[in-house]
Amino acid sequence: MANQVAGRLADRVCVITGAASGIGRATVERFLREGAHVVAADIDADRLATLEGVVPVVGDVSKEDDARRIVATAVDRFGWLDVLVANAGVIPLLDITEAEGADFDEVMAVDGRGMFLTCKYAIEAMLVSGGGAIVCTSSISGVAGQARQAVYGPAKFVATGLTKHLAVEWADHGIRVNAVAPGTIETERVAAARVEPGGPEYLSEIVRAHPMGRFGTPEEVAAAILFLASDEASFVTGAILPVDGGYLAR
Ligand code: NAD
Repeated sequence: MANQVAGRLADRVCVITGAASGIGRATVERFLREGAHVVAADIDADRLATLEGVVPVVGDVSKEDDARRIVATAVDRFGWLDVLVANAGVIPLLDITEAEGADFDEVMAVDGRGMFLTCKYAIEAMLVSGGGAIVCTSSISGVAGQARQAVYGPAKFVATGLTKHLAVEWADHGIRVNAVAPGTIETERVAAARVEPGGPEYLSEIVRAHPMGRFGTPEEVAAAILFLASDEASFVTGAILPVDGGYLAR
């Protein structure tokens, strides 16, 4: 009989938001290979429907009822919740002269309020089941300043701030809260930026700021999320883990 190697998330119940594309999708695929039960949430119903082996939930993390329903789906289906990957986000590359108040509100609603709400309902569920792990997707823009991030960057500082505050508050309830801070990752958003006005110049400047001289892949971020979500990170909480080819080391 072939050797059966238990996955690093065997039978863990995991909710992943922003699951339909990019980093979220790579995380879904990695978590499934590691034996997790995955509730995959996204606002994009069509792309979500292309994911196999998950419990799909169409929802908008910035809406209170949807955030509650996303977490409740995991508890109703499996009985408890072990892991939340709070990853859903929108990424406008605007400087402050191009942006309007509505742009700021939209990003804060998804990347800020959405992260707050999904963390809130996940923690309430984890308190019932006796603990768990949360991984928030922040960014290098949630740690350091960058050009054209006046709208997006502050929302990612919400992710790093929320991570630290929640880690301290809930550590003695067995709930670990960490974040990844990806550098620029090869996703459709980056592909779109290549054809936006000023995009190519901006991206080549950004790639030079990554000491490894390239952008990362969604799979490389998923591997870091897996580590923080798994028992291998059992004494890690409140950490902001750069996955950035050395960007923040400068
Ligand atoms: P992406 O656009 O490929 O994926 C984001 C997903 O979130 C999409 O499937 C989208 O439909 C979903 N989504 C958007 N608004 C939502 C909402 N209100 N409710 C539920 N789902 C929603 O982008 P990505 O690059 O994979 O981004 C994922 C996360 O990684 C984001 O939080 C982003 O800020 C962060 N990040 C990305 C990069 C990068 O270079 N791509 C770098 C650092 C951090």
